[in-house]
Amino acid sequence: MSRILIIGAGGVGNVVAKKCAQLPEVFTSITLASRTVSKCRAIASEVKERYGVDIASVEIDADNVDDIVRVIESCSAELVINVALPYQDLAIMDACLATSTHYLDTANYEPPDSAHFEYSHQWAYQQKFEEKGLMALLGCGFDPGVTNIFCAYAQKRLFDSIETIDILDCNAGDHGHPFATNFNPEINIREVTQTVRHWHNGIWVETPPILDDDCVHFSFNYPEVGPKESYLLYHEEMESLVKHIEGLKRIRFWMTFSEPYITHLKVLDNVGMTRIDKIDYQGTSIVPLQFLKALLPDPGSLGTNYTGKTVIGCIFDGEKKGTRQQKYIYNICDHAKTYREVQAQAVSYTTGVPTMIGAMLMVQKIWTGAGVFNVEQLDPDPFMEALNRYGLPWKVVDFEGSLP
Ligand code: NDP
Repeated sequence: MSRILIIGAGGVGNVVAKKCAQLPEVFTSITLASRTVSKCRAIASEVKERYGVDIASVEIDADNVDDIVRVIESCSAELVINVALPYQDLAIMDACLATSTHYLDTANYEPPDSAHFEYSHQWAYQQKFEEKGLMALLGCGFDPGVTNIFCAYAQKRLFDSIETIDILDCNAGDHGHPFATNFNPEINIREVTQTVRHWHNGIWVETPPILDDDCVHFSFNYPEVGPKESYLLYHEEMESLVKHIEGLKRIRFWMTFSEPYITHLKVLDNVGMTRIDKIDYQGTSIVPLQFLKALLPDPGSLGTNYTGKTVIGCIFDGEKKGTRQQKYIYNICDHAKTYREVQAQAVSYTTGVPTMIGAMLMVQKIWTGAGVFNVEQLDPDPFMEALNRYGLPWKVVDFEGSLP
């Protein structure tokens, strides 16, 4: 028996619900809760039609601990999968502690009024989860998530020591819209407009944001999709990986952006539409970025005509038996194929499948432990095996290209 509560019925929630429903022998009871209950019901009705599985739909205010406790108790969940927004992480963790329920998420907590990504808020729950014998698993999507697992696997299976890691995230897809984001627009734009940091010789080195003319970028030749301009970006998994990959000297994160995307974002930024502070508009207080989100396409709706692929992976430079090695582990995911399977584009899919896998390993007690964990602290082998089985096959090759 494993009873789960999924919070959030957006692009990622849709994939998690469907992938869990595909495994009724693992997930025997699924409840999907979100602010707009009609979104849960729409997903539940597709699940019933396709897999013959019943999912309960519930309205929840995931900013309110008491309301989350009410829903957890009503469905007797043993694990809460949080795929709402990063703002809700702490309230959901508090509700899990209050009800003795395990916890899993895909993005680290962010205070709504400052776009600052760090694990400190959630790592501070270590003792509380440990004392209750509960597991909180942080960042179990693709990046963070699979990229951390690739690092743990490289450390366990491919290298004696790893000197550098470069994480490369490429979306070479085309959704046909002039400008859209592939996951929640507010969270996505906060992430990509911040000052860039990478880690080198024990310190965080700052470089200009991707909208600045002096930002750092280069063209990388991705498998199957070819050369794409890749921009240095700060990404949250680096913060935990520098703690957990022994002897690491440098870690960087690169993401591809098209020229039209950068141009649109520059204009929006220049006119103030990416601001996250409140402004007065005709007597009403609004946050410009939240207003922009309301105008942009819903990422969950992008899948219909999406073509092309995502290529996300890690390049390692290190030593094995005294010999220098460079290895590249990556996954390629096709937007049209994921749409056919679960009516979602590949960015939602590559996030939702690892979320389901992490949840599966937790409810099957293959991954156990008391406290707050980042995924690279757990055994990568069963996760790597499950990626191949559940829709995200990976490859490991000798890396023969060059990096800046
Ligand atoms: P969406 O905006 O599509 O979905 C978010 C869902 O959460 C919506 O259903 C929304 O409800 C619901 N929600 C928001 N606030 C509340 C609240 N206070 N109470 C209840 N429900 C709420 O986002 P995505 O599906 O694209 O992303 C989901 C999460 O996945 C995000 O945290 C994102 O950062 C993360 N992510 C992680 C990735 C990774 O690789 N690790 C990659 C991509 C995303 P409503 O519909 O009413 O707004």
